[in-house]
Amino acid sequence: MSTMTLACAQRMLPVGPGGRPAPDLAGHLAAHGPLAIPIRNDPGWKAAVRRAVAESGLLGRGGAGFPAAAKWDAIDGGRHRPLVVVNAMEGEPASAKDRVLLGRAPHLVLDGAEVAAAVIGASEIAICVADHNDPAAASIEAAIAERRRAGMSVRRISVRRPPGGYVTGEESSLVSWLSSGRALPFLRTDKSVPVTVGRGPALVHNAETLSQVALIARHGPAWSRGLGTTEAPGSTLVTVTGAVSSPGVLEVELGTPVADIVARAGADTELSAVLLGGYGGAWLDAAQLAVPYAPGPLSAAGASQGVGVIIALPRTSCGVAETARIVRYMAGESVGQCGPCIFGLPAIADDLEQLRSGRADAGVVDRIQMRAGTVEGRGACRHPDGVVRLVRSALVVFAADTLDHARGRPCSGRASPTVLSFPEGAAGARRSA
Ligand code: SF4
Repeated sequence: MSTMTLACAQRMLPVGPGGRPAPDLAGHLAAHGPLAIPIRNDPGWKAAVRRAVAESGLLGRGGAGFPAAAKWDAIDGGRHRPLVVVNAMEGEPASAKDRVLLGRAPHLVLDGAEVAAAVIGASEIAICVADHNDPAAASIEAAIAERRRAGMSVRRISVRRPPGGYVTGEESSLVSWLSSGRALPFLRTDKSVPVTVGRGPALVHNAETLSQVALIARHGPAWSRGLGTTEAPGSTLVTVTGAVSSPGVLEVELGTPVADIVARAGADTELSAVLLGGYGGAWLDAAQLAVPYAPGPLSAAGASQGVGVIIALPRTSCGVAETARIVRYMAGESVGQCGPCIFGLPAIADDLEQLRSGRADAGVVDRIQMRAGTVEGRGACRHPDGVVRLVRSALVVFAADTLDHARGRPCSGRASPTVLSFPEGAAGARRSA
């Protein structure tokens, strides 16, 4: 997948001499400058960095959008040594931002992890990269080795390789794998209570969040707020795919209209909708694309940034068929712990497949709605909730098409090639292709 940056915001993914990425240490320092992290305990430095991260308004970039500073505060005061976990699992098939960051800016991710570790008093950093993502793992390992040779790191840094999968990158699933070798999500009723690995608290941040921390530690909160809006400061990475001529990862200023983002990725045809936030996100009608890409406005439009994915759907495609493909895939990604997820998601996928084919009974839409209500909020993790969000948005955005399909008059777009991508061999995608 290609990588692009917008002229207004080239913070995380600068290019080196000759327009080429320079992921090595020399290129990193040339692009970003040095970052002094005290080797010994320095309460003044820690307090200044904490303050800077809080004042920057940085929200986690892994999907939940939790304030980064609040996560740091929650770690304080325990008896056991904390661990910093870099979440670069990227379980979302349509996302490429973690992969791009680890490939092009591994030292920025490591800087952020080292800053976070120094602030919370962690002596160890675990970088989690899915077992199928060898290039990203190799890039970050090379960067770690380079820093060791340069005598830059005083902490233990390891690259860990959990099994890839949609749910494995979920925070509780990741710490479960680190603790026991089993990637099983668990219910977290209070997100302000830190997760643990073994007996110690774990600070889990997405790779992009830590890249932002590295920049804020260098340049301060006012610099960080120099882009974006008052409510949504800074820049963020977005993977744009689907009906665009240049699919890839963009670094965009928060608040940029969604229409501008897809246009810059080369939306080369008339769109009927975009999928925002990934496969557990929400469809947005093409008429709503003026909405600023920022948490508040997206929420008001019924969507969210989610994992930073925008998929452009052309008018020649069928939103009902694409939704059916995603739900089949998501049903196959259940970890198999919770009844509503194990049984409810395949049932919704079956209903959507009938709807797609135009051979559904008259009650199919009501049944999908009923099943969505039954699984919502009843999983140990948010996986089923993402499916419910997606399905409900599809029934609204593609309401006219849904009605036609339910009446046995499916559109010709149902036979169009999908604009979505699924991991090779994924169970769901093939069955409703
Ligand atoms: S909700 Fe689904 S994916 Fe999440 S833990 Fe339960 S069975 Fe697994």
